[in-house]
Amino acid sequence: MAKIAFIGLGNMGGPMAANLAKAQHHVTAFDLSDAAVKAAIDKGAHRAASAAEAVKGAEIVVTMLPAGKHVRGVYESDVLPNVAKGVLLIDCSTIDVDSARHVAALAAKAGHDMVDAPVSGGVGGATAGTLTFMVGGPEGSFAKAKPILEKMGKTIVHTGASGAGQAVKICNNMMLAISMIGVSEAFMLAKRLGLDFQKLFDVASTSSGQSWALTTYCPVPGPVPTSPANRDYQAGFTAAMMLKDLMLAQQAANAAGASTPLGAEAAQLFNMFVNSGNAAKDFSGIIRMLDGK
Ligand code: NAD
Repeated sequence: MAKIAFIGLGNMGGPMAANLAKAQHHVTAFDLSDAAVKAAIDKGAHRAASAAEAVKGAEIVVTMLPAGKHVRGVYESDVLPNVAKGVLLIDCSTIDVDSARHVAALAAKAGHDMVDAPVSGGVGGATAGTLTFMVGGPEGSFAKAKPILEKMGKTIVHTGASGAGQAVKICNNMMLAISMIGVSEAFMLAKRLGLDFQKLFDVASTSSGQSWALTTYCPVPGPVPTSPANRDYQAGFTAAMMLKDLMLAQQAANAAGASTPLGAEAAQLFNMFVNSGNAAKDFSGIIRMLDGK
């Protein structure tokens, strides 16, 4: 089994590292949060005092960090100066395409395989090991990464060259934000029309209104007991992270000349939601703002 360094043990990284340890890999874990490291140790990982220490002697490095600046920082200061030659580097964070290509170029120059491998499926998917991975990078690097990703996910798709994983991810999350707002608006209209939420769910979840935002992540309490709406919108996937992804999508759309009017509107609505004190809430909590709260 492989020696894996895992850096970034938050909502997603924690359960992903746990699944690698469960698959009998030797996982050395580091996070700036001691509580996150402790939780990973409880799930079978080994403690490292720093990111630099975690990657020394590792055959594979997995990172699951908030944004591009964290990934650039950790790769430039800790990972690349300390890994052995020929290590496989897998970044699962959702970051901008430029940062993904930048670190991939540095890794290639130093003789390492690297893939950007952002995920979809949320904390539930991370815990169950059923994530979808969208993977950018050379064919040979993808082939090496795939058996490791299979321990954390169910669907592993090679989407193209370095950065292509991130590009697919921001398209996916733009769709998700728009559909979450759509589902939320429909429930708030239903409320004002005096409908029972469960009845709307029973119909829409088996009709043309069906979506992941509705059937897995329903923004009102009740119909999907595991959705964040049932625990006061405790994240899950924070509104701040969704806003980050929407801004990345808008940046990419502007650069590529793509017309994304609903993506732009979704970014504005999430900006309002985040800036009214909801950055750490689950993104599905935007329904409260649409309810006028
Ligand atoms: P999180 O904030 O829960 O976890 C990030 C972790 O990184 C934190 O524990 C933080 O302490 C750690 N960290 C930050 N800088 C660090 C550094 N320099 N060294 C070591 N650790 C550091 O975030 P998350 O929800 O786990 O998301 C991680 C990534 O996955 C993000 O890019 C996010 O967009 C993406 N993502 C999240 C979800 C979700 O549902 N939460 C779903 C898909 C993708």
